[in-house]
Amino acid sequence: MTGRVWPEVYKKLGIAPIINAQSWVTALGGSIMRPEVLRAMDEAASSFVDIKQLNYAAGEVVARSCGAEQGLVTAGCSAAQVLMVAACMTGQSEENVEQLPDTMGMKNEVILFKGQRNRYDKAFVTGGATLIEYGDVDSVTADDLDDAINDNTACVAYVVAPFMPQGIGLEETIRVAHERGVPVIVDAAAEVPPRANLSKFHNMGADMVAFSGGKGIGGPQSSGLLAGKADLMEAVVMNSLNLDSSVAGIGRPMKVSKENIVGLVTALQLFTDSDEGAEWDGWYSKAQYVAERLAGIDGVRVELEDDPAERQGPQPVLYFEDNYDGPSTADIKEQLEAGDPGIYVGGGGNRPEINIVMVNVQDGEEIVIADRLEEILRDR
Ligand SMILES: *Cc1c(COP(=O)(O)O)cnc(C)c1O
Repeated sequence: MTGRVWPEVYKKLGIAPIINAQSWVTALGGSIMRPEVLRAMDEAASSFVDIKQLNYAAGEVVARSCGAEQGLVTAGCSAAQVLMVAACMTGQSEENVEQLPDTMGMKNEVILFKGQRNRYDKAFVTGGATLIEYGDVDSVTADDLDDAINDNTACVAYVVAPFMPQGIGLEETIRVAHERGVPVIVDAAAEVPPRANLSKFHNMGADMVAFSGGKGIGGPQSSGLLAGKADLMEAVVMNSLNLDSSVAGIGRPMKVSKENIVGLVTALQLFTDSDEGAEWDGWYSKAQYVAERLAGIDGVRVELEDDPAERQGPQPVLYFEDNYDGPSTADIKEQLEAGDPGIYVGGGGNRPEINIVMVNVQDGEEIVIADRLEEILRDR
């Protein structure tokens, strides 16, 4: 076993903690915050503070980290998506901000490439906008985007995510949209690390870019960060807490606590200051350990894959050959999840593979994973 003590708080609720070998997925808890982040949140919790001042100060840290004009800590990337669209619709008009989600008299269409429709895109329309798709999943041109833009277009949305088709690409999307005077907003929730991505999409000219705080950055699971051009970001602020107005904005249900604001800022600074290579090497050695333990099982081919375009960090991937006669991938996953502790790995479903993502595997857990997989695959 790992020698780790499972938290009493979960035991009291009758919930068993699990091993997360599936990456920064929301359903398994996002990420684990470092002790420094927890200490900062603890400290923040002990004092009152002017929330508006705190939001602006934290926003400056976000902006600096992203190389953008202005930033804000949000309640997750999803909340940032709501606020980006709201800002594009209302601008800095107090009247418009109060009128949402009724968009009468405002530009209210969000344009998205059909191939980038995803389970999170509801957030683009939460504030009252309408989503307009353009292009076909496997054939799309700059003209398709240009044709979709009209007088009601509030913004063009773009999603960067693993396995997501890139359509005409972000650079071309920005070129076409800007030629028509329309802003481009980016959902890049799970695209850091690499750390360079914090500023990459801003440097390309995107107007606003949103990331999750509780995935690769290691902040509170319900935090996010949003940054972009100052005029739009000021409209974002008006639509978020709107502390100066008699009417709360569309973003009021997505407020961020002082503890989460401080937690995100602390996590972000630790993240940008820490060594990406060392982080990668840690994941790699865990992946290598499991790959070596699982070598030589009849019908199972183990590959250590680490192409950043394909995989979230180095990971052993199990492929099943024609002569394999063991349990199905679904069966393997079921057995792993039913164990004590439950182990959640990736793959199965559409992918006839098992992948073991190391980014959230805590020290020692790779041994438990290898033990269990050997039991299921070798010792049966
Ligand atoms: C995780 C994710 C989101 C939601 O992010 P939260 O920070 O959990 O709100 C949105 N879009 C994509 C592509 C994601 O992967």
